[in-house]
This record gives sequence, structure tokens and C-alpha cells, in this order.
Amino acid sequence: MYAEVHHVEQLSPDLLRVVLTGGTLSQFEGSSATDAYIKARFLPEGSPVNVPFEAEDLVGVADEFRPRPRRFTIREWDAHRQLLSIDFVVHGDHGFAGSWAQRAQPGDRLQFDGPGGSYRPADEVDWHLLVGDESALGAVGASLQSLSPDAHAVVFAIVDEPGCEIDLPSAGRVVTHWLYRSESDDSETWVADAVASTDFPEGTFDVFVHGEAAEVRAVKRHLDVDRGIDLSGASISPYWRRQHTDEEWRKVKRQWMASQG
Ligand SMILES: Cc1cc2nc3c(=O)[nH]c(=O)nc-3n(C[C@H](O)[C@H](O)[C@H](O)COP(=O)(O)OP(=O)(O)OC[C@H]3O[C@@H](n4cnc5c(N)ncnc54)[C@H](O)[C@@H]3O)c2cc1C
Repeated sequence: MYAEVHHVEQLSPDLLRVVLTGGTLSQFEGSSATDAYIKARFLPEGSPVNVPFEAEDLVGVADEFRPRPRRFTIREWDAHRQLLSIDFVVHGDHGFAGSWAQRAQPGDRLQFDGPGGSYRPADEVDWHLLVGDESALGAVGASLQSLSPDAHAVVFAIVDEPGCEIDLPSAGRVVTHWLYRSESDDSETWVADAVASTDFPEGTFDVFVHGEAAEVRAVKRHLDVDRGIDLSGASISPYWRRQHTDEEWRKVKRQWMASQG
């Protein structure tokens, strides 16, 4: 499946919303998950491959020019207008996906499969805990947008510095704690420390923690060890790992998760 860039919006200094349309998007089936994601394939600059491509088009293509798979969350799928929105973190010229988004122009094509995903705020709990950095704000935003007026959520949203916050509209009652890297001590536990220093509301809640691997792990440990929360039904996902490309991270992710608890 593929689609073309319709337009690009700068949401904050480090987040770009790329809205896709056209191509074969009419065949796209949405998802009820609010962390639904696509597996997109980004072509390195200079690649002789063109979108759309088939497996046989990649035969004989040198490794450095083959498409690089990356997962990205569907912030919004407007089936009626055939518009698919994805919020990309801008993190410099390195990598393939973030830099593609920075260069994206109307008409540029992106090939992808999906959607996958499994989280949606549960109806049967009293409130929802959501923790995420910029890479997870698409899923946090979609989750908050799905809440009914009687729902209650507590959000810890991680961004670089004051001024990088984005709108997270919701009909529900939402308390958002913006956490700034510029004000952090740079430790792997700084997000967990912020969560730890906050009183949780009474009642039952579900858990969504997605973002940088070490920060996700520290929050998970805090919820598990310090607060004794049963995380068996929690949605916890280390989306990316500092100083690792997605290829490097995917190679070690399973073992890292198992060994680090
Ligand atoms: C299910 C799922 C959904 C995701 N949804 C989104 C989404 O909606 N939006 C989004 O932006 N990301 C999302 N991510 C994360 C994204 O797939 C990774 O960040 C990916 O590594 C970006 O690829 P890249 O080619 O830009 O950089 P890579 O080539 O993978 O990495 C190059 C360098 O950039 C660093 N880097 C990667 N991501 C970041 C970042 N977010 N901030 C700072 N440095 C970074 C790496 O550590 C590495 O040093 C999602 C991941 C998963 C698993």
C-alpha cells in the first residue's frame, strides 16, 4: 500500500505532522486501537527504487539503497476525507524516517503495511495513566481523543523544553504533566522520578507507557516495584533506543527486554 504527502504541519519545534492521501489509501482499513501503527518503508537518498515497489523490484539492489522499515503511529485516519496523519519526531539529519519527514513535500510517496496495534483506553477502569515522549504523542493524542466526557486521564508527556508542548484535545478530564528534558538531570530514571513524585487518583486504572527504551523501563520498574501495580494487562513498549538505529535496536530489543526486566 502507498500514499502521497498531502501536506505537512509543524506542530512544535520537534514534531511534524505529515498528512497522507491518495495512492492506494482507499484500500486502507482503519483500526479501533489508539496506538495503531503502520510499518513504513523509507528509501535511502539515491535509491534506484521507486514507490510503489514489489519484492522483485528489490532484487539486486545494493544494501545501502534498500528500503528501511520503521513503525509510525496513526495519529488520525479520516476515512471520509481519505487523510492519514502521522506525527514524526524531528531528530536531526541522521536516520531515514525523521529526515524523510523533514524533507517531505506534497506528492512525495510513502509505502507501508498495516495497521498493527492493540491499546485503547479501557471502558471499565476509573482512570487512565499515559506516559510517552514525542514518539508516543501520536498514540497518547489518539487515546485522549477517544475518551468520553466522564473519563479521566493522567498524562506524563516528555518533550525537549518549554515551548515544545502540543495540543492534546479530549472530551475527557485530562491532567497533563509536561516533562522537559532541558530541566532533567539526564538520568535514565528522570521520567520515573517525576511519575513517582505524583499522587495517583483513587480507583482502578489502565497503563500506557511508550517511548525511549531506558525511560520506559525505569517507569515500568517504578510501577511494578515501588507501587506494586499488576502490569500484566499494561501497554508498555520501548519504541526506540538512544544511540541505536531502529535496525540496531530491533536486533537486541527482545534480549534487552528479557534481561532488564
Ligand atoms: C509501534 C511504534 C510506533 C511508533 N510511532 C512513532 C511515531 O508516531 N512518531 C515517531 O516519531 N516515532 C515513532 N516510533 C519510533 C520510530 O519508529 C523510531 O524513533 C525510529 O528509530 C525512527 O527512525 P529514523 O530512521 O528516523 O532513525 P533511526 O535510523 O532509527 O535512528 C538514527 C538515530 O536517531 C535516534 N532516534 C531515533 N528516534 C529518535 C527520537 N524519537 N528522538 C531522538 N532521537 C531518535 C536513534 O537513537 C539513532 O541514534 C514508533 C515506534 C514503534 C515501535
